[in-house]
Amino acid sequence: MSGRVPAVCTRGPSRFSISGESLIGSSRRGPPYPAVSFARVPLDISDLPTRHNYLLALPQSRFEEILADWVAELEVPIQRGREVVGMRQDHTGVDVEASDGRALRAQYLVGCDGGRSVIRKAAGIDFPGWEPTISSVIAEVALRDEPELGIRHDRNGTQAIGRLEAGGRFGIVVSEPYSPHSGEPTVRELSRAMVAVWGTDYGAHGPTWISRFTDMTRQAASYRKGRVLLAGDAAHVHYPVGGQGLNVGVQDAMNLGWKLAEVLHGRSLDSLLDTYDAERHPVGARVLQNTMAQNALTRSEPRIDALRETMRELLSIDESRKRIASMICGLDIHYDLGEGHPLLGRRMPDLDLVTADGPLRVFSLLRDARPILLDLAMGQRLRPHAVGRSGSAGRGDVERPVGASGARSCRSACSCARPARWARRVDGRRRRPRARRRTLDLIRKPVSVGLVASWRR
Ligand SMILES: Cc1cc2nc3c(=O)[nH]c(=O)nc-3n(C[C@H](O)[C@H](O)[C@H](O)COP(=O)(O)OP(=O)(O)OC[C@H]3O[C@@H](n4cnc5c(N)ncnc54)[C@H](O)[C@@H]3O)c2cc1C
Repeated sequence: MSGRVPAVCTRGPSRFSISGESLIGSSRRGPPYPAVSFARVPLDISDLPTRHNYLLALPQSRFEEILADWVAELEVPIQRGREVVGMRQDHTGVDVEASDGRALRAQYLVGCDGGRSVIRKAAGIDFPGWEPTISSVIAEVALRDEPELGIRHDRNGTQAIGRLEAGGRFGIVVSEPYSPHSGEPTVRELSRAMVAVWGTDYGAHGPTWISRFTDMTRQAASYRKGRVLLAGDAAHVHYPVGGQGLNVGVQDAMNLGWKLAEVLHGRSLDSLLDTYDAERHPVGARVLQNTMAQNALTRSEPRIDALRETMRELLSIDESRKRIASMICGLDIHYDLGEGHPLLGRRMPDLDLVTADGPLRVFSLLRDARPILLDLAMGQRLRPHAVGRSGSAGRGDVERPVGASGARSCRSACSCARPARWARRVDGRRRRPRARRRTLDLIRKPVSVGLVASWRR
């Protein structure tokens, strides 16, 4: 496959929370909420170093539409309704077998096919972790009787009934005894679980969607085996607490996407793909750890309640709150790219820029999913700046060089890193001019996971 990588996909709605940071600005739809939660302890995020310091609640179906629209804009071909049933790799590529009998050959294959990933299994990648301890049914149904709305926590987990916007229907999450043999849940099983919690099923009927999830926690032993790579739930599954699953999966895809493009275009060595596992596996492991901790702390019984109250106290300390909130939002991610500027290996902030073409925001430059080079060394004397091929493995072509200066100080935007040095660099005022030395910032990854890399020339 070159350039455009076709995606094969086949699948349901649920309410999604996602940090605003993860959404492309113009896609804002739900009401913003200025906090995330860690094990039921709300953490204010209004002072985190991002423009999008809020949480949005969107139905998953809407979220998928937003992403699908963007993918369509980028003209990525998607073949729907074709299931991958097997694959085999050799030294030069991967053969993919589809349910309609047709085959596809690719240089690389990325398994983004969810927790039960056929591709992960066919590649023989281990998926070690922990078996479920709890199970929940999640459904959208009609109720004959007026229910008790709201969230309830008990020793089995979280129980909730909420009114949906459309058609007088209700969203329900209810825990049930875990059974390793359960398949797709039935309305009868939903009713049984509801009666156990609320003493009634409120006359639940007519589900438009019903599913089941557990706290199974697993991570692929490696995100790469030869020419097969894994991203999203195919690489890691965990209890859906804190709204992190989709974020971390999208970040995986962003991290991998540009690297694959580099390798496919022959601009980088295949070994660049090894950095995907090196950078993303630790991020996934950290999400698994925090969701396991939250899962334990979310349940309600006197000893756990006492522990959670202790956590609440600790999290009321500003430093602790910011650290944990940044982790939940993915703002604390820092890839080890060696010594350098404090922002090296961190997310690129959505700065206001002043360019020869007028004011711009960094994220608006990333919408077409191409690498961007920002030359912030121009100070007040801006001019469009043309940069040729770097030619070095790992850097790649700069498809859209932009000469710019930061129109606002990065001080607030970058407080995860040391702001003073960054502010100096963007403003370009206090740096001593030096012949033949210019600092360039290459945003290696687009959108929320834009990454700062720099080199000198
Ligand atoms: C109840 C619940 C609530 C959640 N809430 C949140 C939340 O608030 N915020 C958040 O960020 N995350 C949340 N998550 C997690 C989130 O849903 C997942 O992390 C995310 O959907 C993973 O995306 P994915 O694309 O990796 O996998 P999936 O969403 O599982 O998508 C995999 C895709 O691959 C397709 N596929 C599978 N097998 C094949 C095959 N053989 N051939 C072709 N196609 C195939 C499937 O049809 C599907 O389209 C929640 C999860 C659950 C269960």
